[in-house]
Amino acid sequence: MHVDRYAPSPTADLHLGNLRTALAGWLLARHAGGRWLMRVEDLDAARVRAADGAESRQLADLAALGLTWDGDVVRQSERTGLYRDVLAGLRDRVYECFCTRREIAAAGSAPHDDVRPYPGTCLRLTERERSRLRDERVPALRIRADGAEQDVVDVHAGRVRGIVDDFVLARGDQFAYNFAVVVDDIAMGITHITRAGDLLGSAPRQAWLTRLLGGTPATYAHVGVVVGADGKRLAKRDGPLTLAGAGGPARVFPRLASSLGLGPCRDTDEALAAMPPGQGFWTSRISIT
Ligand code: GLU
Repeated sequence: MHVDRYAPSPTADLHLGNLRTALAGWLLARHAGGRWLMRVEDLDAARVRAADGAESRQLADLAALGLTWDGDVVRQSERTGLYRDVLAGLRDRVYECFCTRREIAAAGSAPHDDVRPYPGTCLRLTERERSRLRDERVPALRIRADGAEQDVVDVHAGRVRGIVDDFVLARGDQFAYNFAVVVDDIAMGITHITRAGDLLGSAPRQAWLTRLLGGTPATYAHVGVVVGADGKRLAKRDGPLTLAGAGGPARVFPRLASSLGLGPCRDTDEALAAMPPGQGFWTSRISIT
């Protein structure tokens, strides 16, 4: 069974690129006779509060395009008990890290794809140093990956191998994106992940943690960035980027479907009927004019 999810962060309205990613995931799931789940990634309480009402506008926009989801909306803010339990189970593999971002950058490990590997500084602290630092800073908790490497399979990029550093699972009482995503994808039985291409760099870490927690890594479809007529990443200069601003579903749906190579379909029924066999129906970097 093909099970995908859409996982918006309710910190701004969805723009055309987000909607196009959602449509791609929905089509792949429905075409495979599978399920498409909705998970609101609202752990960053301050940013969510600052974007008051974004979640309901996001869900309304998706529904207006006919992108219906199965089951109830899952909210990460309601699942912290689960994250706490899973983290407790990893107790022997996590360590406290007191480094600031600036200190990590100064330690000079070169960025690797989109990921700057953590150099392991705090792994080597003595218990004495640790207890002194605890008085000064709230530690982050990092997973000990022992220099692992992990392959992921992406329908466009193919097999991608990435190094797995000692990434952060939690910071104070805030669970980190890379951790919550993995716990949820396992708990929700996700087999396929369609999401924005800029997350490809974090996929090896997530797949590695999935295996460590006894899950099976999903097959990924990282959708390329959306570009305007000038070939540059779509931005406000290309016109309004929200569903309402760009003319509502009747105007936007055909643009999204065309940008996925399906022609100017008017709705989800037409788009599903236009789907070719297989999964590689969009190019990785595509114009949405
Ligand atoms: N919440 C993330 C975002 O809005 C997506 C995470 C994911 O799909 O893994 O960028």
